[in-house]
Amino acid sequence: MNDEQRWASAVTAAGAAYERLPAGTGAELDAVIKQIMGHKQELVELALAAGSASICRGCGGECCLSGKYHVSVLDLLSYRIAAADPVAPNFGAAPACPYSGMSGCLMPPRFRPMTCVVFNCELIEGRMGPNERAALYERENLLREAIAQANRIAGSRLDRALLLSCDA
Ligand code: SF4
Ligand code: SF4
Repeated sequence: MNDEQRWASAVTAAGAAYERLPAGTGAELDAVIKQIMGHKQELVELALAAGSASICRGCGGECCLSGKYHVSVLDLLSYRIAAADPVAPNFGAAPACPYSGMSGCLMPPRFRPMTCVVFNCELIEGRMGPNERAALYERENLLREAIAQANRIAGSRLDRALLLSCDA
Protein backbone atom coordinates (compact mmCIF):
# COMPACT_ATOMS: atom_id res chain seq x y z
CA MET A 1 0.00 0.00 0.00
CA ASN A 2 1.48 3.39 -0.94
CA ASP A 3 1.01 6.59 1.08
CA GLU A 4 -1.99 7.79 -0.96
CA GLN A 5 -3.75 4.45 -0.47
CA ARG A 6 -2.79 4.37 3.19
CA TRP A 7 -4.19 7.88 3.68
CA ALA A 8 -7.47 7.08 1.89
CA SER A 9 -7.89 3.86 3.85
CA ALA A 10 -7.20 5.58 7.16
CA VAL A 11 -9.63 8.41 6.40
CA THR A 12 -12.36 5.88 5.61
CA ALA A 13 -11.62 3.81 8.70
CA ALA A 14 -11.53 6.84 11.01
CA GLY A 15 -14.87 8.07 9.64
CA ALA A 16 -16.45 4.63 10.07
CA ALA A 17 -15.17 4.35 13.65
CA TYR A 18 -16.63 7.77 14.44
CA GLU A 19 -20.00 6.79 12.94
CA ARG A 20 -20.09 3.70 15.15
CA LEU A 21 -19.89 5.76 18.35
CA PRO A 22 -23.12 5.89 20.39
CA ALA A 23 -24.93 9.22 19.88
CA GLY A 24 -24.17 10.48 23.38
CA THR A 25 -20.50 9.59 23.09
CA GLY A 26 -20.27 11.27 19.70
CA ALA A 27 -21.79 14.49 21.05
CA GLU A 28 -19.42 14.45 24.03
CA LEU A 29 -16.47 13.91 21.72
CA ASP A 30 -17.60 16.68 19.37
CA ALA A 31 -17.65 19.15 22.28
CA VAL A 32 -14.08 18.25 23.31
CA ILE A 33 -12.84 18.43 19.71
CA LYS A 34 -14.25 21.96 19.49
CA GLN A 35 -12.27 22.86 22.62
CA ILE A 36 -9.16 21.31 21.06
CA MET A 37 -9.61 23.40 17.94
CA GLY A 38 -9.90 26.53 20.08
CA HIS A 39 -6.72 25.73 22.02
CA LYS A 40 -4.81 25.15 18.77
CA GLN A 41 -6.00 28.47 17.38
CA GLU A 42 -4.88 30.28 20.54
CA LEU A 43 -1.46 28.61 20.51
CA VAL A 44 -0.82 29.66 16.93
CA GLU A 45 -2.00 33.20 17.68
CA LEU A 46 0.46 33.45 20.58
CA ALA A 47 3.28 32.38 18.26
CA LEU A 48 2.12 34.83 15.59
CA ALA A 49 2.15 37.62 18.17
CA ALA A 50 5.83 36.79 18.76
CA GLY A 51 6.54 37.15 15.04
CA SER A 52 6.37 33.52 13.90
CA ALA A 53 5.01 34.40 10.46
CA SER A 54 8.12 36.24 9.31
CA ILE A 55 10.54 34.12 11.37
CA CYS A 56 9.26 30.84 9.93
CA ARG A 57 9.15 32.29 6.41
CA GLY A 58 12.81 33.22 6.76
CA CYS A 59 13.65 29.76 8.08
CA GLY A 60 11.81 28.01 5.29
CA GLY A 61 9.96 25.64 7.61
CA GLU A 62 12.86 23.53 8.80
CA CYS A 63 10.83 21.89 11.57
CA CYS A 64 8.10 20.97 9.08
CA LEU A 65 10.29 18.43 7.28
CA SER A 66 9.11 15.69 9.63
CA GLY A 67 5.39 16.37 9.48
CA LYS A 68 4.23 13.33 7.54
CA TYR A 69 3.02 11.37 10.57
CA HIS A 70 1.88 14.33 12.64
CA VAL A 71 -1.76 14.24 11.54
CA SER A 72 -3.74 12.10 13.98
CA VAL A 73 -7.13 10.41 13.81
CA LEU A 74 -8.37 13.13 16.14
CA ASP A 75 -7.10 15.86 13.81
CA LEU A 76 -9.02 14.30 10.96
CA LEU A 77 -12.22 14.15 13.01
CA SER A 78 -12.02 17.91 13.57
CA TYR A 79 -12.75 18.38 9.86
CA ARG A 80 -15.94 16.36 10.26
CA ILE A 81 -17.03 18.48 13.21
CA ALA A 82 -16.43 21.63 11.16
CA ALA A 83 -18.08 20.12 8.05
CA ALA A 84 -14.92 20.96 6.12
CA ASP A 85 -12.99 18.94 3.56
CA PRO A 86 -9.86 17.41 5.09
CA VAL A 87 -6.45 18.55 3.97
CA ALA A 88 -5.33 16.93 0.71
CA PRO A 89 -1.77 15.68 1.27
CA ASN A 90 0.84 15.66 -1.48
CA PHE A 91 3.16 12.80 -0.63
CA GLY A 92 5.19 13.54 -3.74
CA ALA A 93 6.41 16.77 -2.13
CA ALA A 94 8.93 14.89 0.07
CA PRO A 95 11.12 15.88 1.81
CA ALA A 96 8.69 18.78 2.30
CA CYS A 97 5.74 18.08 4.57
CA PRO A 98 2.88 16.57 2.52
CA TYR A 99 0.51 19.06 4.18
CA SER A 100 2.48 22.11 3.06
CA GLY A 101 2.39 24.32 -0.02
CA MET A 102 4.13 27.36 -1.41
CA SER A 103 2.64 29.54 1.35
CA GLY A 104 3.35 27.17 4.22
CA CYS A 105 0.98 24.86 6.03
CA LEU A 106 -2.17 24.02 4.09
CA MET A 107 -4.14 23.63 7.30
CA PRO A 108 -5.77 26.52 9.13
CA PRO A 109 -4.40 26.70 12.68
CA ARG A 110 -7.37 25.03 14.37
CA PHE A 111 -6.88 21.90 12.26
CA ARG A 112 -3.11 21.55 12.65
CA PRO A 113 -1.63 18.59 14.50
CA MET A 114 -0.76 19.03 18.15
CA THR A 115 2.97 18.58 17.51
CA CYS A 116 2.89 21.47 15.06
CA VAL A 117 1.08 23.96 17.28
CA VAL A 118 2.99 23.30 20.51
CA PHE A 119 6.46 23.47 19.01
CA ASN A 120 8.15 26.84 18.73
CA CYS A 121 11.88 26.94 18.28
CA GLU A 122 14.11 29.26 20.24
CA LEU A 123 13.87 31.91 17.53
CA ILE A 124 10.20 32.35 18.42
CA GLU A 125 10.23 31.59 22.14
CA GLY A 126 13.19 33.92 22.47
CA ARG A 127 10.93 36.77 21.37
CA MET A 128 8.46 36.05 24.17
CA GLY A 129 8.50 37.52 27.64
CA PRO A 130 7.74 35.48 30.79
CA ASN A 131 4.00 36.22 30.59
CA GLU A 132 3.76 35.17 26.96
CA ARG A 133 5.69 31.96 27.61
CA ALA A 134 3.47 31.20 30.62
CA ALA A 135 0.38 31.71 28.47
CA LEU A 136 1.85 29.41 25.83
CA TYR A 137 2.55 26.61 28.32
CA GLU A 138 -0.88 27.02 29.91
CA ARG A 139 -2.57 26.58 26.52
CA GLU A 140 -0.36 23.61 25.74
CA ASN A 141 -1.42 21.93 28.98
CA LEU A 142 -5.08 22.62 28.23
CA LEU A 143 -4.63 21.14 24.77
CA ARG A 144 -2.93 18.00 26.09
CA GLU A 145 -5.63 17.56 28.75
CA ALA A 146 -8.39 17.93 26.16
CA ILE A 147 -6.73 15.38 23.87
CA ALA A 148 -6.44 12.94 26.78
CA GLN A 149 -10.12 13.53 27.52
CA ALA A 150 -11.03 12.80 23.88
CA ASN A 151 -9.13 9.52 24.13
CA ARG A 152 -11.02 8.61 27.30
CA ILE A 153 -14.39 9.42 25.73
CA ALA A 154 -13.66 7.36 22.62
CA GLY A 155 -12.04 4.55 24.58
CA SER A 156 -9.11 4.49 22.15
CA ARG A 157 -5.99 6.47 21.23
CA LEU A 158 -7.45 9.01 18.84
CA ASP A 159 -4.16 10.89 18.97
CA ARG A 160 -2.30 8.12 17.14
CA ALA A 161 -0.87 8.88 13.71
CA LEU A 162 -3.56 8.69 11.04
CA LEU A 163 -1.19 7.13 8.49
CA LEU A 164 -0.47 4.29 10.90
CA SER A 165 -4.16 3.77 11.61
CA CYS A 166 -5.60 2.08 8.55
CA ASP A 167 -7.54 -0.25 10.86
CA ALA A 168 -8.88 2.69 12.98
S1 SF4 B 1 9.40 27.11 14.40
FE1 SF4 B 1 11.57 27.60 14.10
S2 SF4 B 1 12.40 25.81 12.99
FE2 SF4 B 1 10.16 25.76 12.78
S3 SF4 B 1 9.72 26.83 10.86
FE3 SF4 B 1 9.57 28.33 12.52
S4 SF4 B 1 11.60 29.28 12.63
FE4 SF4 B 1 11.81 27.36 11.47
S1 SF4 C 1 1.30 19.89 9.11
FE1 SF4 C 1 1.71 22.05 8.65
S2 SF4 C 1 2.68 22.88 10.51
FE2 SF4 C 1 2.74 20.63 10.64
S3 SF4 C 1 4.72 20.00 9.84
FE3 SF4 C 1 3.29 19.97 8.11
S4 SF4 C 1 3.38 22.02 7.15
FE4 SF4 C 1 4.35 22.13 9.19
